[in-house]
Amino acid sequence: MLHLTEGTWENWSGSVRARPRSVHYPETEAELRTVVERADGTLRVAGAGHSFPPVAKSDETFVSLERYTGLVDVDREARRVTVRAGTPLSALTAALADHGLMLENMGDIDDQSVAGALSTGTHGTGTDFGVMSTQAAGMRLVTADGETLELEAGDDRFPFAQVSLGSLGVVSTVTLDVAADYRLRERKFPAPVDDVLANLESYRDHRNFEFWWFPHTDTALVKILEETDAPGRPGRRDAVEERLENLAWEGLCRAGYRVRSAAPLLNRFTAATFSESERVGPAREIYPTTRAVRFNETEYGVPRSDAAAVLEDLRGVVEPHDVMFPVEFRDVAADSIPISPAYGRDSAFVAVHAYHRRDQEGLLRDAEAVFDRHDGRPHWGKHHTKTASDFEALYPRWGEFCEVREELDPEGLFLNDHLRDVFEG
Ligand SMILES: Cc1cc2nc3c(=O)[nH]c(=O)nc-3n(C[C@H](O)[C@H](O)[C@H](O)COP(=O)(O)OP(=O)(O)OC[C@H]3O[C@@H](n4cnc5c(N)ncnc54)[C@H](O)[C@@H]3O)c2cc1C
Repeated sequence: MLHLTEGTWENWSGSVRARPRSVHYPETEAELRTVVERADGTLRVAGAGHSFPPVAKSDETFVSLERYTGLVDVDREARRVTVRAGTPLSALTAALADHGLMLENMGDIDDQSVAGALSTGTHGTGTDFGVMSTQAAGMRLVTADGETLELEAGDDRFPFAQVSLGSLGVVSTVTLDVAADYRLRERKFPAPVDDVLANLESYRDHRNFEFWWFPHTDTALVKILEETDAPGRPGRRDAVEERLENLAWEGLCRAGYRVRSAAPLLNRFTAATFSESERVGPAREIYPTTRAVRFNETEYGVPRSDAAAVLEDLRGVVEPHDVMFPVEFRDVAADSIPISPAYGRDSAFVAVHAYHRRDQEGLLRDAEAVFDRHDGRPHWGKHHTKTASDFEALYPRWGEFCEVREELDPEGLFLNDHLRDVFEG
């Protein structure tokens, strides 16, 4: 859903605002082509607006595909589906369930649009799973000249479209390889963060593993998912508990915001309330959580072998900022998508969050210095201060991506100021 109030668009965290000159809601690919053909200045597509930096921002032409949703094709035998790009992930997994299918992996919310998630290299966790774009087998794009470009796995240009920040064209439909529907058992428990870091390899044997370390404490909250045949599903009680947790968390964050020096105490209090919990259900209900408390976030992918060292370094960096939000750790498998942050290396993704009312500039700068020491590559949908010259050094195929981008969009129709920094420096 495009959040426009009196002509002003705001992203989820409130870190980006735009006042677009024209806003379009095409309902067919033909209408989308017309919007692109007629656009002048900058055209950006907004998905669910869940990216933290201004990747989707346009003060000129703004497009939402929220009326261009749903499955177009399902090949149940081949486990391959085609979906319209504006479909929210929640709607996609619900539609897949009707066919006994499911995404092989997901991140921790399902509000994003399919194209937004793919364009920014959105990921979940698990050593066997790449960023969500690795699940894509084909894509249709409306390019700057208003033409339709159909790409599929094996085509030279397809890997460039898999993660592109929407800079090659407007994604119209995406073809995805999916899994047979499955169920998950989720276990959450507190553990000393040093133990978790010392035993990362055994934790990584689980299907999905992640943890959150709470600054000013020695405690990590660990989450593990395993496939199961066990019956059951998250009930009303789970939903109510999640709402209450969010409410309590908002209260604590406000208290920490008003009295900054209270942050260490509040974090220790929070960590002391962690207990072991377990729930079972369809994967589409277990992956997503409710994130009602607004925050800003930076997240970098680092070589997996550096994960523990990065966590150790960050401990010294985030605490002086009185951060209340946890540092999050996830695993992502290497891929061959030219500008995916996991390109060519098994990665650990480490994220630092700050309550949305807090100025996070200093924290971001200090965290980035840690990530830089480990050749970190920023998540495209999270805050970063990197520009083209940094990316040339970080991505072996950066130059090739830029050539494809210039070839498909020579006039820079799809470039806003942020993307000019990213691609042109
Ligand atoms: C609470 C929260 C939780 C999150 N959890 C995770 C997580 O678990 N894992 C993770 O990796 N990330 C996570 N993210 C980041 C999020 O997944 C990405 O920022 C994602 O891109 C958001 O999708 P969106 O639909 O909101 O896209 P937007 O933010 O609206 O847009 C993202 C980019 O995609 C482009 N785009 C959108 N639609 C199209 C289209 N049809 N054609 C071409 N370009 C298009 C936009 O122009 C923009 O460049 C989270 C973010 C929030 C706020």
